[in-house]
Amino acid sequence: MLTELADDELMFRDTVRRFARTEIGPYVREMDEAGAFRKDIVKQFFSLGLMGIEIPEEYGGSGGTFFQCILAIEELSAVDPSAGVIVDVQNTIVNNVFLHYASDELKRKYLERLASDTVGSYALSEAGSGSDAFALATTAKDEGDHFVLNGRKLWITNAGESGIFVVFANINPAAGYKGITGFVVERGFDGFTVGKKEDKLGLRASSTCELILDNCRVPRENVIGQIGQGYKIAIETLNEGRIAIGSQMIGLARGALEHAVAYAKQRKQFGKTIGEFQGVQFQLAVMATELEAARLLVYNAARLREAGRPFVAEAAMAKYYASEVAEKVASKSIEIHGGVGITKDCPVEKLYRDAKIGRIYEGTSNIQLMTIAKKLLGK
Ligand SMILES: Cc1cc2nc3c(=O)[nH]c(=O)nc-3n(C[C@H](O)[C@H](O)[C@H](O)COP(=O)(O)OP(=O)(O)OC[C@H]3O[C@@H](n4cnc5c(N)ncnc54)[C@H](O)[C@@H]3O)c2cc1C
Repeated sequence: MLTELADDELMFRDTVRRFARTEIGPYVREMDEAGAFRKDIVKQFFSLGLMGIEIPEEYGGSGGTFFQCILAIEELSAVDPSAGVIVDVQNTIVNNVFLHYASDELKRKYLERLASDTVGSYALSEAGSGSDAFALATTAKDEGDHFVLNGRKLWITNAGESGIFVVFANINPAAGYKGITGFVVERGFDGFTVGKKEDKLGLRASSTCELILDNCRVPRENVIGQIGQGYKIAIETLNEGRIAIGSQMIGLARGALEHAVAYAKQRKQFGKTIGEFQGVQFQLAVMATELEAARLLVYNAARLREAGRPFVAEAAMAKYYASEVAEKVASKSIEIHGGVGITKDCPVEKLYRDAKIGRIYEGTSNIQLMTIAKKLLGK
C-alpha cells in the first residue's frame, strides 16, 4: 500500500492540489509564452510554506517531511512542471544542502531567508562538465579569511530569481574531485553575475541561466561542510533530488492522462465519444498502468530515503522510469486529442515539451542506468 497516504499527507496533498489548479492553472500558458514565472505565485509558494517544507519551524520553515516535498512537486507538476521544478530545487537540493551539511552559523544565516522570501539555486554544472560533473573547472583560491572564486556555471535552475547560490568550485585542481568544495554565494557578492538566460523547448517559465564568477570574494565561513568534501555533498544531494525529478515526471504524466480521459469522454466521432472505442480505452489503460508503476517506484524511493534506508539505486530507477513514462504518456495524450493536441490551445502540447528535460537533468538516463548497473554488478 505504498500509495496509501496518512491523513496529514492527504490533507497536505489536497491543499497543494487545490492551490495548483486555482492559483497556477489560469496562468500556465501565459507564463510559458512569456518564458517567465509570475513573481506573485512564487510569493504564494513562500506564504504557503512550500519553499521550506523540511526546514524546522525554529528557522521559519514548515517542519515537514521529504515525502511532503515529493507530494507537493507531483501536484504542482500536474498543472505546471515549471512550478514543480522551482519548489523541487529549493527544497530537495538547496535547503537539503543547508540542512545536512551547513554549520549552525550558516543555517542561522540562510535557512530563515530560504523559508520566507529568498529563492535558492544549486550550481554544479559547467559547459565542460555535465555528466562528468567533477571535471568542473571553477576554482576557489584560499586567501585566508575569504576565498576567491573564478569560473562559469551553466544551466542553473531558478538563477533568474535566486538570491542564494550553492556553488561548487575546486580549491586544488591537482587533487581532482577531492578538491571540490561547496560555497554559499549571495547574489550581491562582488564579482558575481547572473548571465544569459536559456531559451528552452520546455519548462520555459522556469529560468535556467549562466553564472559568472569573476574574482568573486566569498567569506571563509560560507564554506559548506568540509573543504574538499563538495563532491560528497553533490552526490548525496543529487541522489535525493532524483526522487523529486521522478515526482515531477509522475505529476506531469498524471496531468497529461487526466486531459486525455476528459477529452475521450467528450469528443465524438462516428456518432460516439472516442472513449467508447476499445482502441482508445486500451491506450488510456496502458497510460494509467505505466503511470502507476512509475508512482510506485517514486514513492518507494522516497519512503526508503525517509526511513534512512539505502535508496540510491531505487532513486535512479524512479527517475529513469518516471521520465520515460512522462514522455510516453504526454505523447499518447496528444494523439488522443488528435489535431487539437498539437496546438497551443491544448495544455498537453506544453506538457509534452516539458517532459523532455526529465531524461536529461540531475543525471541523464544513461547516468541513472550506470548507477543501477553498478548495484547489480556489485561495483
Ligand atoms: C533545464 C535544465 C536545468 C538544469 N538545472 C541545473 C541546475 O540547477 N544545476 C546544475 O548544476 N545543473 C543543472 N542542469 C545541468 C544538467 O544536470 C546537465 O545538463 C546534465 O547533467 C547533462 O549534462 P550535459 O548537458 O553536459 O550533457 P553531457 O554530459 O554532455 O551528455 C551528453 C550525452 O552523452 C551521454 N553520456 C555522457 N557520459 C556518458 C557515459 N559515461 N556513458 C554513457 N553516456 C554518456 C549522456 O547520457 C547524454 O545523452 C540543468 C540542465 C537543464 C537542461
